[in-house]
Amino acid sequence: MLGNITWNAWLFVNANPSIRGVFLGGEAMGQGWRFCYACETHTPPRCSHCYDCNVCVLRRDHHCVFFGQCVGFRNYRYFFSCLLFMWSGLLYAVVMNAEVFIVILKEGVTFHSIMLLLVPWIMLVSGQVTARAFAFAFIADTCVVGFLLVAGFLFFHVALMLRGQTTREWHSSRRPYSLGIVGNIRECLGTRWYLCWLCPLIPSPLPGDGINFKVTGPLEPVRG
Ligand SMILES: [Zn+2]
Ligand SMILES: [Zn+2]
Repeated sequence: MLGNITWNAWLFVNANPSIRGVFLGGEAMGQGWRFCYACETHTPPRCSHCYDCNVCVLRRDHHCVFFGQCVGFRNYRYFFSCLLFMWSGLLYAVVMNAEVFIVILKEGVTFHSIMLLLVPWIMLVSGQVTARAFAFAFIADTCVVGFLLVAGFLFFHVALMLRGQTTREWHSSRRPYSLGIVGNIRECLGTRWYLCWLCPLIPSPLPGDGINFKVTGPLEPVRG
């Protein structure tokens, strides 16, 4: 799990999701193309400018503040796999830490035990608990909070992937680029979508080019 998290994170950060070095084929400009004044170029549909990376990113999903990298067409697979293994790793940690909660609550559901689980720092500073009890409660708490955050994020991205949307397109009820459930997963994870999440070494070429997208429904109005 740790190997998969770090390896996918490394590939995610080092893959270039932007338009730098990509031939955009200016001849074929059609609906959905826009002009980016910062990059001084025409950009394809679903592409948008990131003011943190200072470049336009193909099929831009969002800028990940945790890793300082944009999530786009070419690194979505690594971002998703990293999230998936973070979720399973934290689930494992929560299950293993369940013993700590059981031990704490075994002494009875008292004001003291509830406070230790909810606000361990305050209990330590006020001298109510030992450093050892604090450490166990704090680590268990961190795993639970981390697990809930990552789980929310993972399920959001599973929903986005199944709907064929990016985070930027989520607010719209229209899904102009949806290719059906399997088609949408292939678009995000590549042709070996059923295997590639197991290990970043498994090759899984993306079916599209990140520039041209098949339009299957009404497009949303073009915004600035
Ligand atoms: Zn731009
Ligand atoms: Zn960015």
